[in-house]
Amino acid sequence: MSDLLESLRADLEKRQTLGLIRQRRLLDSPQAEHITANGQPFLSFCSNDYLGLANDAALVVALQQAAAEAGVGSGASNLITGHHRYHDQLEQALAAFVGQPAALLFSTGYMANIGVVSALMGREDAVFSDKLNHACLNDGAFLSRATHHRFPHNDVAALEKLLQASTARHKLVTADAVFSMDGDIAPLAEYLALCERYDAYLYVDDAHGFGVLGPQGRGSLKHLGLQSPRLIMMGTLGKAAGVAGAFVAGQQIVIDYLIQHANSYIYTTPAPPPLSAALLASVKEIEQGDARRKQLFDMIALLKSELSLTRWHLLPSETAIQPLVVGDNHEALALSQYLQARGILVPAIRPPTVPVNTSRLRISLSAAHRESDVRALIQALHDAERELAIGAVA
Ligand code: PMP
Repeated sequence: MSDLLESLRADLEKRQTLGLIRQRRLLDSPQAEHITANGQPFLSFCSNDYLGLANDAALVVALQQAAAEAGVGSGASNLITGHHRYHDQLEQALAAFVGQPAALLFSTGYMANIGVVSALMGREDAVFSDKLNHACLNDGAFLSRATHHRFPHNDVAALEKLLQASTARHKLVTADAVFSMDGDIAPLAEYLALCERYDAYLYVDDAHGFGVLGPQGRGSLKHLGLQSPRLIMMGTLGKAAGVAGAFVAGQQIVIDYLIQHANSYIYTTPAPPPLSAALLASVKEIEQGDARRKQLFDMIALLKSELSLTRWHLLPSETAIQPLVVGDNHEALALSQYLQARGILVPAIRPPTVPVNTSRLRISLSAAHRESDVRALIQALHDAERELAIGAVA
């Protein structure tokens, strides 16, 4: 027997020693490329606001107007009286935008993933997940009580072996479309072909592709040209869409089933209606957002072509997530702190969010960044490599 609080203290002290304590910052400005955090101005490469919509005037006005008209609270869960016309309109707009028959809103991506996987899968079923999937997909598999197989990152052959050997009643393959800490795109066409061959379904988490990839930002499935009744997708609305929440889109029967069975949909109060009104404005901005996406991809190209380091390396990512792998926890933290001292915020991501010895700076780019912002980051990283001797940071 040990005292609970003593165990908590021991855990926190150990984390501190290992350089694994995670700190919150107090943001005191809108989310943007230039922010005020802990009372100081910073150039930020931290947010997932890939299109610069989090502080967009059209969204703010839509939210204000809807709040004046519809109030701020949803008041009850969706199946009681909480499902507002704005929620309904947004579901229809999102389904049409991603080219799926139907869509269902959840309050967050986390709630969507745990709700969908645990509703669709049960004890006699099997879930197959990429090892680098987002934590909430794993939590969903755990909650479902299905057998959970985790295959090596992007390893199509390993997935095929697992599917071939499985005698489960139903099979669901789950993958991030764009991996949140690596930025690479999953081989979804290959996964879908395997699903067709082995009678499985594919659940794609497009948290980081929706709004950014595909024609008019319609997401990773459109980017890869994939369409199938075996596909179910999830898109988050707090990243490129700039607000909060998530949606699941797929066959009408899947959506109807989720309304009856997804606990994180049923037993919770939906996000306030004005957020859906802001998101309706956001979907329009995304659809008409080619100039924003061009700016974002120009910034990605600039960073990739001009950053020239020998000690740390960018992972091969074509998306807004550009991870700079450092390896050691303390060194990643020291590099992040060095940049911070120069007024630039880039988060150091350490285990358990990423595998041991792959601590990294997760650089995320946005259409809100200007060329001078990205050049300032490149310059600071070049200086860091010169000034931070390995011994000095260990
Ligand atoms: N999936 C992925 C791949 C994510 O990166 C995230 C958020 N970081 C989520 C799901 C959860 O989404 P939300 O923040 O809306 O809960």
